[in-house]
Amino acid sequence: MVFSDRYHRQRLVDGIGDQGQLAISNATVAIVGVGALGCMSASMLARAGVGHIILIDRDIVESTNLQRQVLFTEEDASTQEPKASAAAAHLAKVNSEIKITAHVEDLTSRNIHHLLEDVNVIVDGLDNFNTRYLLNDFAVKTNTPFMFSGVIASQGNVMTIIPGSTPCLRCLFPEPPPSGEQDTCDTVGVLAPAIGIAASCQCMDVIKFLTGNQEKISKTLLTFDLWNSESNRLGLGEPVENCTCCKELQFEFLTATTIEPTVLCGRLAVSLPCIENFDLQLTATKLKEHGTFECSETMIRGEFNEEESADGSAIKFLCFHNGRAIIHGTDDIKRAKAIFERYVGN
Ligand SMILES: [Zn+2]
Repeated sequence: MVFSDRYHRQRLVDGIGDQGQLAISNATVAIVGVGALGCMSASMLARAGVGHIILIDRDIVESTNLQRQVLFTEEDASTQEPKASAAAAHLAKVNSEIKITAHVEDLTSRNIHHLLEDVNVIVDGLDNFNTRYLLNDFAVKTNTPFMFSGVIASQGNVMTIIPGSTPCLRCLFPEPPPSGEQDTCDTVGVLAPAIGIAASCQCMDVIKFLTGNQEKISKTLLTFDLWNSESNRLGLGEPVENCTCCKELQFEFLTATTIEPTVLCGRLAVSLPCIENFDLQLTATKLKEHGTFECSETMIRGEFNEEESADGSAIKFLCFHNGRAIIHGTDDIKRAKAIFERYVGN
């Protein structure tokens, strides 16, 4: 394979060369969560020439994303584009030689095997722990490298998980933190430069892994606080002897059968899971009796006449072809479910 000049500076780097570039171009990398981390990773990996990039995100672009989510524009926010498809459209203009697949989906135990089939590396761009633990289960079970990262305010954690070689997420943190107890981007904010450091570390390890330089991947947990100019690498050693996931091979997140509604991180919004036998057009017709709604082939969006959020603004509703819905204007899961049942049915 002869490469165009676009990868010349990358191929020049010791450890990459033509062979490394060929490996990168033959690889499939999934980026799960296309928010701040996911946007930066997707941009770097598309420019590096990863042959197939899979983008998975359940949310839409909002104006508060633009401060750090580098692939999105004001137009994406005003038209409320789904993040996965908006990112894919921008990346296609950056590199037309690669394949980009966008899934506007909530990654769950039901669809993960389908969405992440034949993926070589998984990059964490998530904002919630439950999906991270699901990915950790999947990564260990399928022996797929998983680039874990989490960033909040000016602080970040980054750890590359190579199943069979390094500890997994549950070796370090056996259970996800109780929801509601963690700081989030909503409560303490987040600064884009901290995202940049974390995404760069993740992508560097993706490139090392794909090009056969696995020995260069550090077996450490990197923690940093850019605001206070602090960083540390904690040596990880071997996987924990009684780890539920990578030693006992109990994949409880992967085998969970109920998909629960979730409050979206950093937002006054609830995501409700998809439902069976959902009819988008029929639902649109029903909804139009209760507010202002528009329906495309893939989604319905609009607002209700008679449902208000705490500040008096209308409750907004967004629903995809599979019945997955996002209710904006409340973080009360019971109320979100009730609204869905009242106007859409179940
Ligand atoms: Zn483990």
